Amino acid sequence: MTEMMWAAQLVEPGKPLSVTRIPVPRPGQGELLLKLETSGICHTDLHVAEGQAFPGGAPQPLTLGHEGIGRVVERGAGTTTPMGARLGAPWLHDTCEHCRSCLTGWESFCPTHRAHGYTVNGSFAEYVIVQERYAAVIPEGLESLASAPLMCAGVTAYGGVMKADLAPGKLAVVIGCGGLGQYGIQVAKLTGATVVAVDTSPVKLKEAAALGAEECFLADEATAEKIRALGGADAVLNFAPSNRIWPMVTGMINNLATFVSVAMVAEPVPLVLEWLTYNGVKITGTSVGTRQQMIDFLALARKHDFRIDIEPVALKDVNAAMHRLATGDVKGRFVIDFARVD
Ligand SMILES: [Zn+2]
Ligand SMILES: [Zn+2]
Repeated sequence: MTEMMWAAQLVEPGKPLSVTRIPVPRPGQGELLLKLETSGICHTDLHVAEGQAFPGGAPQPLTLGHEGIGRVVERGAGTTTPMGARLGAPWLHDTCEHCRSCLTGWESFCPTHRAHGYTVNGSFAEYVIVQERYAAVIPEGLESLASAPLMCAGVTAYGGVMKADLAPGKLAVVIGCGGLGQYGIQVAKLTGATVVAVDTSPVKLKEAAALGAEECFLADEATAEKIRALGGADAVLNFAPSNRIWPMVTGMINNLATFVSVAMVAEPVPLVLEWLTYNGVKITGTSVGTRQQMIDFLALARKHDFRIDIEPVALKDVNAAMHRLATGDVKGRFVIDFARVD
């Protein structure tokens, strides 16, 4: 068994990752060691890397990454997954299994969950440890590199759509058409709803149209009115990391509609409670996905071939890719290809 591996680690928050040789971890009770083929690079990785401090409870240094896919090469005590099985290392490493969120089927909201690349080492490494009971089983027929973003971006978008109460004849507005929004459009289409895409980038709107958005609008002062002219929004899914979307949302949303917050927007929005009293709008949010949502979503992905652009990179080029991600210089998602050494 290999003793050492390459990993991209956060040594000092705010500084570039260190691509370095570290010992391969060994799986304990209930754990599996995956030899990774790929890992997606997510905006959350960027937030952690650019943070002021390590996340609470995180190992230091910390290997980032939570969109890994690889094969089982070593098994800890008590595990039954066959050697060579292809599994995913998503955001959830494990959860407490006894809080209200966990016991009511919403483990993705568990306040003490542990996450790959956040509170335990993640998938920016040739090998990663997963909990057997939390690893995602990757169905045959899904190609590893193209499927890496399903582990976070994809399942997060899916979870958002599942909360949007969509149905045939309803109008769904997807704001923000990067990787998550692109998955959101494709999943929302499957509900039979009419999907309208909104973004500040004409290039991303072109992609949204190719993925099935029936109408595409640039985000500006006239957007809400254009959506009103179509009958108004029955659901709004926000994938745009900005609080500036709020006046547009309140301008386009129908009575009794649902607003789903998916993007991480830390700045407040001016919410007038009376507005809610009058219109009965439901405001909710979603965070990654539960294990069951992952199973359902991967089965759907196998059938429908959700596609977003991916750009494979070598592990040693992870800092350059993260820099481009930070400046918006990417069409879909970067994925690390561990077979690439050039
Ligand atoms: Zn993510
Ligand atoms: Zn819990």
